Amino acid sequence: MLDPDCIFCRIIRDEVPSFKVFEDERTLAFMDINPANPGHVLVIPKFHAADVFEIAEPWLGASIDTVQKVASAVWVTLNPDGVNIVQANGPGAAQSVSHFHWHVLPRRNGDGLLLNWGLKPGDMTEIGALAERIRSNV
Ligand code: 5GP
Ligand code: ZN
Repeated sequence: MLDPDCIFCRIIRDEVPSFKVFEDERTLAFMDINPANPGHVLVIPKFHAADVFEIAEPWLGASIDTVQKVASAVWVTLNPDGVNIVQANGPGAAQSVSHFHWHVLPRRNGDGLLLNWGLKPGDMTEIGALAERIRSNV
């Protein structure tokens, strides 16, 4: 079930453009347009649930399977020093979109990235080019 007013549900429906890197029956992975680091990917279930307390099987399991696939592709594509898998619930955790999602975050030694990194618009040409490279490795 999707919510017509949710930005991520609208991305699932292709009503809002996105740089997709992987899609299957239950999940979608696409580039974050405010990347904390280059290659920042979001993974979502194709079902509207606000957070970890609302998401149910089979959507939760399907989404973590896709996280593993995408993290592997990010690893092969960007050869980072590490990858964080982050998931926020509620305003106190800096959740800004109320559709359950995982952040796949490539890390570099000394990048100074803090847990609540703030939203800074990225360069769409660079994001699109990274999407293509990661997509080819999923
Ligand atoms: P949260 O802050 O809820 O943990 O993560 C939400 C993420 O969604 C943020 O990193 C933000 O940049 C991203 N985001 C918000 N709106 C859009 C959008 O329209 N398209 C894309 N690709 N990402 C978005
Ligand atoms: Zn939604």
